[in-house]
Amino acid sequence: MNVYDSDRMKDSLAPLGYQEGSDLQEADMIVINTCHIREKASEKVFSELGRLRKVKQRAEQEQNRRVKIVVAGCVAQAEGEEITRRAPWVDIVVGPQTYHRLPDLVAKLDPVQRNHLIDIEFPPELKFDFLPENLGQRGPAAFLSVQEGCDKFCSFCVVPYTRGAEFSRSVETILDEAKTLISSGTKEITLLGQNVNAWHGLGPSGNEWGLGRLIFALAEMPELQRIRYTTSHPLDMDEELISAHAQVDKLMPYLHLPIQSGSDRILQAMNRRHTAADYLNIIDRLRSVRTDIALSSDFIVGFPGETDKDFADTLKLIDKVGYASAYSFKYSMRPGTPAASKFLQVPEEVKSDRLSSLQQLLDAQQFAFNKTCESMKFDVLVEQKAPRKGQLNARTPYMQSVYFDGPESLIGKIARVKVSQARNNSLSAEIIQ
Ligand code: SAH
Ligand code: SF4
Repeated sequence: MNVYDSDRMKDSLAPLGYQEGSDLQEADMIVINTCHIREKASEKVFSELGRLRKVKQRAEQEQNRRVKIVVAGCVAQAEGEEITRRAPWVDIVVGPQTYHRLPDLVAKLDPVQRNHLIDIEFPPELKFDFLPENLGQRGPAAFLSVQEGCDKFCSFCVVPYTRGAEFSRSVETILDEAKTLISSGTKEITLLGQNVNAWHGLGPSGNEWGLGRLIFALAEMPELQRIRYTTSHPLDMDEELISAHAQVDKLMPYLHLPIQSGSDRILQAMNRRHTAADYLNIIDRLRSVRTDIALSSDFIVGFPGETDKDFADTLKLIDKVGYASAYSFKYSMRPGTPAASKFLQVPEEVKSDRLSSLQQLLDAQQFAFNKTCESMKFDVLVEQKAPRKGQLNARTPYMQSVYFDGPESLIGKIARVKVSQARNNSLSAEIIQ
């Protein structure tokens, strides 16, 4: 979602004459879009700001040029004034719900006297209504934000506090944005939301649509070839969404469905509001309607109170499901969340040990999955040139990165390839059509 938001900030600054640059030393404005989900991500912001201070000083001293520094995103939202206190060289602090105001904030910066502007409101207006309709170049695979925020309040998570309450964009604005993307050459759209499958909106005839219905509608757009959505919560996998997996060929047979832990006790303490059996049941239903579906998940190890037995339950669940890929993290205490105040924190070394055994298992599953793709034929979306000369980089329906020799004219198109070799994180292939 931060990639999507960064693109939207770029769109909103374009009318002021700003465009994306590649050289930090030449920039007139530097925007860091930040993540607050884990402590490490948010610490990085301050070390990055230290580096940017030097860039700013150099431009001022050597070229008498003022570089504006903007901190956007969830760290901005959570830390607010603390950022300009710790890093007074930051000019603007703007939250994830107010970045449409960035052009106004830039205009309000005093050209002579240094002033800081902080806008981390949860505003009454909708940012999507104030963002330019013109989208800059997005490429063959693009993101489209349909839902934001979260009302689920998992006990470890800051999202409900930084992104705010759950909100769904309207059907009309989503379909309009999809049309704009498609007319500029986008072939694949990934619908985005912190809880994307909780999306709901009123359809043209006034009836309520869920994400499944929206996917059926998007699939009717002829030039759109592939649809994905992320990230989903197991509680919101409803029948219509499952039937979209059964019936919509354009919906890729790959689903990121995080469970976090395989222990019912921990799931309850996390306030996930479902059991491991509920989750396995959803997977069974999905697999029964779409036999070739592959899955990924997020896992947290070392949640407060997690015992060896709880952790073993997570490994057991992973064994049962068999994932094509996954993300896993050590539990990170987030200020203001209920789990942060629990005194049963798991020692750091235990977290590290658990994370490495978990990742060993998940890596082995990913490699095994990639191996099953050897000799298989796939339609892949060619996204870009590969670093190696003459090679292209594309994505399979399962999001694997695939490399093969082919002409650059294929970029932005679907090619048919046969996988020749599987690696841990990618595939090699030969083009057949
Ligand atoms: N809405 C999604 C998750 C969004 S956050 C869901 O409910 O599944 C993305 C991932 O970050 C989460 O799935 C979780 O695995 C991880 N995460 C969130 N808070 C965390 C924390 N405090 N410590 C470690 N990992 C965390
Ligand atoms: Fe965070 Fe996801 Fe839980 Fe919402 S559902 S609180 S985003 S982990």
